[in-house]
Formats: sequence, structure tokens, C-alpha cells
Amino acid sequence: MKYTFSGGYHPPDGKSFSEKMPIEKMPSPKIAAIHLHQGGRPSKAIVAVGDEVKVGQPLSEADGFMSVPVHASISGKVKAIAKITDAAGNKTDAVIIESDGKGEMYGGVGEKVDYSQLTADEIRNKIAAAGVVGMGGARFPTHVKLSPPAEKKINYIILNGVECEPYLTADDRLMQESPETIIEGLKLIMKVVNAENGIIGIEKNKPESIKIMKDKTASMQNIKVIDLEVKYPQGGEKQLIVASIGKEVPSGGLPMDVGVVVSNVGTANAVYEAVALNKPFYERIVSVTGESITNPKNLLAKIGTPTSELIEYCGGVKEDVYKVVNGGPMMGAAMYSMEAPVHKGTSGILCLSKENAAVYEEQPCISCGKCVSVCPLKLVPTEIQMNVQYKRFEQAEKLGILDCMLCGTCAYVCPAKRNLVHYFNIGKAKIAEMKRKK
Ligand code: SF4
Ligand code: SF4
Repeated sequence: MKYTFSGGYHPPDGKSFSEKMPIEKMPSPKIAAIHLHQGGRPSKAIVAVGDEVKVGQPLSEADGFMSVPVHASISGKVKAIAKITDAAGNKTDAVIIESDGKGEMYGGVGEKVDYSQLTADEIRNKIAAAGVVGMGGARFPTHVKLSPPAEKKINYIILNGVECEPYLTADDRLMQESPETIIEGLKLIMKVVNAENGIIGIEKNKPESIKIMKDKTASMQNIKVIDLEVKYPQGGEKQLIVASIGKEVPSGGLPMDVGVVVSNVGTANAVYEAVALNKPFYERIVSVTGESITNPKNLLAKIGTPTSELIEYCGGVKEDVYKVVNGGPMMGAAMYSMEAPVHKGTSGILCLSKENAAVYEEQPCISCGKCVSVCPLKLVPTEIQMNVQYKRFEQAEKLGILDCMLCGTCAYVCPAKRNLVHYFNIGKAKIAEMKRKK
């Protein structure tokens, strides 16, 4: 049986740069700038300038259910609480810590816990306190995702080990190097929402990960590893659900509407660390890769480390570098500043040459229909784009712009190189503004 979805595309995957590079712990930065907004809503600082902090110490508290706290990733002194620029160029509040070079741990962080008797609520509370968010990029608070309404029975937890974005290899390496902690994290997530079945979906271009995960789960009746066909954007929640169990999430609906919660493999690992090791989310794996970085690597980097330090640690960029992207080439965006710090959603730093940086001049649409044939959500991208361009936002909404997941597949295949995603972003923002005003 072939596990996949309809539509989509398979761009050259570029994974060979870093797929064989084991995860390497990067030295701690001298200065860590930790944004207070790392998922959901911004959190509220609970430290002040001059305070001494240790690794894993909370720097903030959640501001409501949709917010997560952030934690110190290095030990040292709080130097400032100030607005700093993130990778997209937005200025948001951050706690800036100057290292004391000691790496002292906050009380209890990293110590093993007997979690076998914890209730679902206790596990969920530990996940929330550790500031765990979705690591696939969206940074949705995990404790919120694991709090479906009582009437929504969850039958499946699907772990997303797809990593369909070209170049990125952080999840692939994690599955090869820490399969047990991912599986334990999956079991904890299943316990929280009382799900009977666990699925781990991995694309066939990661044969080592598939083999290891299948070996490790062979004796587990309720956990299955599925080897998916290779196609972008299979890591999208809706596409992964169709590919794995054949269920379609309705337009405007959520995975829980078909009895599913989808979680990234990195998130499952972070759940395990939060619950079993009392370890808050203060570091993550980042693929630093592409043809224009000297030594591609998969780095375990502290949240708050400047991007420039990751690049320097990988030997710097090559002469032909044209663009540095935060994330993968399909959904990532050009870095606004090389000093922007690693955050909880930083899956990759991609250094591209001009040849691969997709620098094209937009041409008029030739009505070829290619964008329609690849859209995994069966939208009509060319029509939506035209309606946004001519400010017919209500019509764009009728055509399903709000369902668009901004995967970029349509723009990738477009022979006229229409900047479709740019228009979809504008359209979504305008419609949201119109709804707010109403
Ligand atoms: S960006 Fe939106 S319209 Fe284009 S292929 Fe992806 S989901 Fe479809
Ligand atoms: S792929 Fe590009 S040129 Fe072809 S119909 Fe879509 S927008 Fe027009």
C-alpha cells in the first residue's frame, strides 16, 4: 500500500549536505537573547535587570492559557529586558543574559523523575510549565493542543517524522539518535489525551530512521511506523492525516475533528524531557546547511544564540552565498538580521547560492493550471491570487484562501514564477483585519 496524499510535488531534497552529520552540541553563547514570545501569546517577564539566573530557570510566566513561559538557556546575569529584532525583522521583547561561563543548572533541572504514576493532568501541567511548543515551525503551545474538548474523542496520535522541507535533517538525525525518548514522548502524549493508537509517519527518503523506529516499536501493538511516499508538503497536518489513515479534515476544521492529534517528533522528545527529566525547553536541534555553508551540521543550540554564531561555528559561509533562510526553502523566509537569535521554532538555517535561491522575475500568468494540479488542498491558487491582487478579498475568502497553508508548492511549480504566497499572505492579513473591524 502507498501512503500519500493527492496533489503536492517533490522538489530536489538537498538533504545530502547534512543528513549524515551527527547532532553536535554547540558551545553556549556569551550572550543569549530570549524572546518572551515563543509560541501562542507573549509571556510576562518575572526576572529583572541584574538578577542572576541558572540554566532552566523560568524567565517569564505564561500570560493566559495560550501562552508559554521561557527559560534561561545559559547561567549568568540579566543584562537587559529590551526589544530586539527577530529573524523576520519584528522587534519584540526579550530577556538578554550575559553568561558567567559556569553553565550552572537551576534546581532539579535534568534530574530523572519516576513518571509512571503521573496522571494525564499532571503530565499536561509539566508540559506547560516546561514551555513546550510545536517544533515543526508553527510553535503552537503543546499543552493547548493536548487539551481537546471532552466531546472530541482522540483515537490517534500521529507523530510527524516527515521533514518534507528540502535540506532540513534535524528530525531525521533525532529519530536515528534518540528513538527511545521520542517513543516515550509519544506514549506520554497518548496518555494525556487517552488515545489508543500511535503512528509515526516517516518519508521513504529516511530509510535509517524508518528501520530504527520500526525495530524499537516492533513489540508495541498500539504503535505503528508508516513509511510514506516522498512528496511535499506531506508534513502538513491535513496531508499527513490523509496519507496515514485516509481521513480528510474538513475545510476550516482541525485534526481533532477526525479524532487525531498530530505532533512533531522533536516535540515528542521535548515532552519526554519535560516530564521525565524536568527539563524545560531551552535548547533545540538546528540544521545549518545548504551549498553555501562551509561545514553543514546538525547543532544542538541554546535558545537565544545569535544566528551569526551558528554560522561561524560551521566554518562561515562560502563566497557564493546569496541568501540565508530561516527554516526550509519552501516555507522559510530570508533572515532579516544575522543577529536574530535561535527560537523554539528554528528548525534550520539555510545558506543558498544564487542558483538555488529562487530569484526570478514575476511574469504574467499563462493559465497553465499547474498550480491547481499540485495544491494539496484542491484550491485554485491562480484565481485566489487574482482576487487578492484586485482587492476582492471576500471572493478570495469564498475560494478558500483561509484554508491555504502557505506551503508554497503552487509558487514552486509556476512557470511564470508568480509570487503566489506573497499575495496569499496579504489576502489572509486583509481578511483578518476586515473581521476584526466587523
Ligand atoms: S500555498 Fe496554498 S494555494 Fe499554494 S499549494 Fe500550498 S495550500 Fe495550495
Ligand atoms: S502555475 Fe502560474 S502560470 Fe500556471 S496557472 Fe498557476 S499562476 Fe498561472
